[in-house]
Amino acid sequence: MNTEHIEHIGIAVKSLEDSIPFYEKLLGQNCYAVEEVVEQKVKTAFFKVGETKIELLEPTGPDSAIARFIEKRGEGMHHIAFSVKDLEGKLKTAEESGIRLIDKKPRKGAEGLDIAFLHPASTFGVLMELCENRE
Ligand code: ZN
Repeated sequence: MNTEHIEHIGIAVKSLEDSIPFYEKLLGQNCYAVEEVVEQKVKTAFFKVGETKIELLEPTGPDSAIARFIEKRGEGMHHIAFSVKDLEGKLKTAEESGIRLIDKKPRKGAEGLDIAFLHPASTFGVLMELCENRE
């Protein structure tokens, strides 16, 4: 699939207010951005570790996918995001090779990235996100 690097690791948390101070201490840095992604019903907070970000995800409502995830499996690792070029082409290739897609077309994620998720049923149980920075 020709991924460039791990763009971020998504971690589901019940509360940004409770988790940000922990991660600030753990990583020895301040959270550099907090952003609400209304469409996905999440509030995100970002840290940067090398080229890779840590993305904390707090649900903004009970019908958020993150809320359902936490209810089912508790807080914790939610997804891995790979940085790619030509996201649309990559999705097509993935689908042609039998990978089930959650998003057939790219949509807007946090930080202005185009994103799309692959279904964990096709990826050995890990929710994977592909993202492209087109800025
Ligand atoms: Zn993500």
